[in-house]
Amino acid sequence: MDLEKNVKREMDGLSNLDLSELKETSRIDNLPSRFQKTKTFVEFLEDIRGMPPDEKYLRTLLEQFLGIVAGQSITFLPYSYFRSMGGYIPQTVVGKGADIIRSCLFKEDEGYIREIMDENKPLILTDIKETCDDVILRELGRTLDFSTAMFAPVEICKNEKGIICIFANADQEPYRETDMKLLQVLAQVVGLILNNLGMRKQLEKQNRELDRKTFDLYTVYQVSKTLSSILDTEEITMLIADMLTEVMTVERVFVMLLEDDESYLKVAAHKLLKPDGIIPIASIKVTDKMTNWLMQHVSGGVIIKDLFNEDFNTAFPEIGKFLNDLGIKIVVPMIHKYKFIGLLALGRKYVGRRFVDRDFEFLSTIAPLAANAISNARLYELAILDGLTRVFLGRYFQQRCKEELKRARRYKQVFSLVMWDIDHFKEVNDTYGHLTGDTVLQEFSTIFKINYRQGVDLIGRYGGEEFVMLLPDTPKAGAKIMAERLRKNVEEFDFAGGKVHLTISGGISTFPEDGDKYEELIEQADISLYDAKRAGRNKVCARIKQKDVVS
Ligand code: GH3
Ligand code: MG
Ligand code: MG
Repeated sequence: MDLEKNVKREMDGLSNLDLSELKETSRIDNLPSRFQKTKTFVEFLEDIRGMPPDEKYLRTLLEQFLGIVAGQSITFLPYSYFRSMGGYIPQTVVGKGADIIRSCLFKEDEGYIREIMDENKPLILTDIKETCDDVILRELGRTLDFSTAMFAPVEICKNEKGIICIFANADQEPYRETDMKLLQVLAQVVGLILNNLGMRKQLEKQNRELDRKTFDLYTVYQVSKTLSSILDTEEITMLIADMLTEVMTVERVFVMLLEDDESYLKVAAHKLLKPDGIIPIASIKVTDKMTNWLMQHVSGGVIIKDLFNEDFNTAFPEIGKFLNDLGIKIVVPMIHKYKFIGLLALGRKYVGRRFVDRDFEFLSTIAPLAANAISNARLYELAILDGLTRVFLGRYFQQRCKEELKRARRYKQVFSLVMWDIDHFKEVNDTYGHLTGDTVLQEFSTIFKINYRQGVDLIGRYGGEEFVMLLPDTPKAGAKIMAERLRKNVEEFDFAGGKVHLTISGGISTFPEDGDKYEELIEQADISLYDAKRAGRNKVCARIKQKDVVS
């Protein structure tokens, strides 16, 4: 990077500072005191060459110089505008009367300041408290008992300049040519230091921006990697809500998806840092007009940055109100293959007050990734989930079951299967019709999902109204407890709005006691289910091992 090179060059510049003339002067031994000063200064400069120049370094430099070229105070005054008036304002002050000196403004139109800057040369003013033209300087001289002031111009960079000024009192040896030369060298060194500092700060700022960009890029990479590895819509939407709350530092996030029939926008996942009574399980009817509007306005990743003030709210006040009631401030539509699939909706920030461009950039990168991951997961779910009940299809369940069998064999663990069949289900269809039968089946799967260990147990639809459950790490006794609870829940449930009451029968088999193969285990569960039916239904049965039978 150019700037980096420049900083390096300037630092080299400091080390290459031409001290030959000064050295020449200082080479003679047994010098009178003023030559001795030069020698000390050269030695000092040589000493500090390797040090990284910073503000502290500048102060040390001034302190040392004040000692070498005997004086009362030394000041660096950068040029600045002060109430639309140009001048030099003391910044780094070392020595006597620092507070008083710091309060002075050395105006640029003063004759002696002009002389220094126009001719770019050092200057000595003597007897400042009596004869000086500048009131400020005269006052300063009187207050602090300074008699001499010596100045040297400092060139920092093209647009920055300043002055170094050293004050002495009447007791000190008057300043001469050599002192001026030393001050000139000091001015050069100070110029270089400040130039370096400026560039360094600029470089640091650029680095910080680069760091931020790298961080954003890294986050996007991590998020996309994680998203593409998950194939469960529920898990993905949860993850998106969690990730956005954290990365965007917002107090709430809703991930809303367009339902299968494309007329409802439903909260699929949410994260609330401060729950406040809002019911997050919400949905709203949407029209083609709205999705079309979003599609048209969103091309190019445009985000609705201020929900309340933007055209969207005017065009669709109802949805605007719905989102506003959820405490949502900004909305990012998710589009996949030119199809609107949902919204990422964010509440206000809890750190910092406002969303900045960087946030919007991040969101417009994340939205298509999220849309892509959700669409893929939905496609996958279509292939493995039963459309009506949203539990696994029998074929997929079988595959997962065989994997569990291998795992259990390897780690010498147990697991149980529970086969379920609804009692007298035909009557439901006959009495209320097939549609009610379907609703009942859907409600069934919900009861199953309430009762299972999410992410651990598996449920599959085996036949029309037959379901099978896999309970990893569960011996027969545990499976019985679980199955009994479920049986009871079904018995007590009001299906189809209360008009249907049902019972179920279940049969349990357990690995390894009831078989070593998948087929054997299924068969045993089936036999036990048949036992339950024969025993009068609304029961859960399991094979009792021969040795357990007390005769
Ligand atoms: P039981 O099991 O107690 O012996 O009696 P049942 O009446 O439940 O008998 P069975 O299990 O043999 O009958 C299954 C019935 O479930 C047949 C069919 O009418 C119904 N069924 C199967 N699949 C579906 C479905 O997807 N939707 C609806 N509505 N009904 C279904
Ligand atoms: Mg059946
Ligand atoms: Mg049945």
